[in-house]
Amino acid sequence: MMHAVVIHAPRDLRIDPVDVADPGRGEVRVRLAVGGICGSDLHYYQDGGFGTVRIKQPMILGHEVAGTVVVVGPEVTTVAVGDRVAINPSKPCGRCRYCIAGQRQQCLDMRFFGSAQRFPHVQGAFRDEMVIDAAQAVRVGPGTSLQEAACAEPLSVALHAVTRAGSLIGKRVLVTGTGTIGCLTILAARHAGAAEVVVTDISGAALATARKVGASRTLNVATDPQALADFSADKGYFDVAFECSGNGHVVSGLPAVVRAGGLVMLVGLGNDTPLPLSLLVTKEIALHGSNRFDAEFAWATELLARRAVDVRPLLTGAFPMERAVKAFDVAADRSRSMKVQLIFNGQA
Ligand SMILES: [Zn+2]
Ligand SMILES: [Zn+2]
Repeated sequence: MMHAVVIHAPRDLRIDPVDVADPGRGEVRVRLAVGGICGSDLHYYQDGGFGTVRIKQPMILGHEVAGTVVVVGPEVTTVAVGDRVAINPSKPCGRCRYCIAGQRQQCLDMRFFGSAQRFPHVQGAFRDEMVIDAAQAVRVGPGTSLQEAACAEPLSVALHAVTRAGSLIGKRVLVTGTGTIGCLTILAARHAGAAEVVVTDISGAALATARKVGASRTLNVATDPQALADFSADKGYFDVAFECSGNGHVVSGLPAVVRAGGLVMLVGLGNDTPLPLSLLVTKEIALHGSNRFDAEFAWATELLARRAVDVRPLLTGAFPMERAVKAFDVAADRSRSMKVQLIFNGQA
């Protein structure tokens, strides 16, 4: 009997029996090994959703997963039985105007694993086995740990943000919010050649991890709320600010510390907030959003596979699927957790 981690209502997370189908044409069946708990999974668990996105029926959580191919359907040529794969949770339609224009992350008919954005919800990947399109399975070599491979999805989010920012070679970068996405953005910005990466957060533990993954300077804005003030001299210090906290108050402070002609890249989702728009006008600052990823997934998987980006300092805990409730509670505690992962089928 197969099992899955299913959210029924806020604080009602269960291990339920589920079926698994045989793969059809172009599909494969994967035995999951590792699944990272994301901020969105935590929102479903703690609050039943976020913003207007709410669970309206039981939903299997999870979209940061890796495993091993166990059955291949007809006409599959890209992966074989026994291949270890990172799973791309994103399934754009391929036919809408955005897909055709190459903006597949904006697909009008997106099916993203473990998301209540559409109804019926798209079931997620925290389960023993599941059937996916072969195109969603990206091979990693035998030398790559599946715990690292399961970070391909959040790393893709960071790579997409960094790519949208243009060249970072020699640039001064600010990252606000050093949760998983913030820390992966530090790694991605360093990989892209950033000269300096200053970061802010309200958690000392998160900032300590940020230092391990390449932050040149960490500022705790809980203990020192004015820590960024010095960076507003001469019309601002940073070439690019990546906003990963989702905190409106943090966002509104960015136009002061980004240099004239610089860029604010919004990655974190959060509260709507009043912005000092006059500063954006007079300093000619660009304000961009960055949403999920597309082609970056294969790139992320490749960077992880040869450890060009080392995410191991972010992996702070692993629990068997049966202990999902414990894992979610630990994941929610920022004083001790960064990326907490579930382990399926006793593998890692
Ligand atoms: Zn995620
Ligand atoms: Zn589409």
